[in-house]
Amino acid sequence: MNPPLCRRCLLAQTDPAGLYQAVLRRIEQLPPDERATDAEYRARLAVCAECAELQNGICAQCGCFAELRAAKSAAYCPLRNW
Ligand code: SF4
Repeated sequence: MNPPLCRRCLLAQTDPAGLYQAVLRRIEQLPPDERATDAEYRARLAVCAECAELQNGICAQCGCFAELRAAKSAAYCPLRNW
């Protein structure tokens, strides 16, 4: 049985099949000059966590893992929420 669809959940809150750990490893591999600051990252994820487009940690607008997208300094929200 599939787990229920969780709107407004980040991977950190659901972690299906260890995906969150894989995303964290990918974030850690980003070059420092391509990473958002911690404050920027937290602010972005706070917006995503309240967004109706977030589904099981994935943005339905772009198909990205919200945590990974938010960690990239040059990234932006496809709806321009951040
Ligand atoms: S990136 Fe934008 S559209 Fe996607 S979940 Fe976050 S706030 Fe919503």
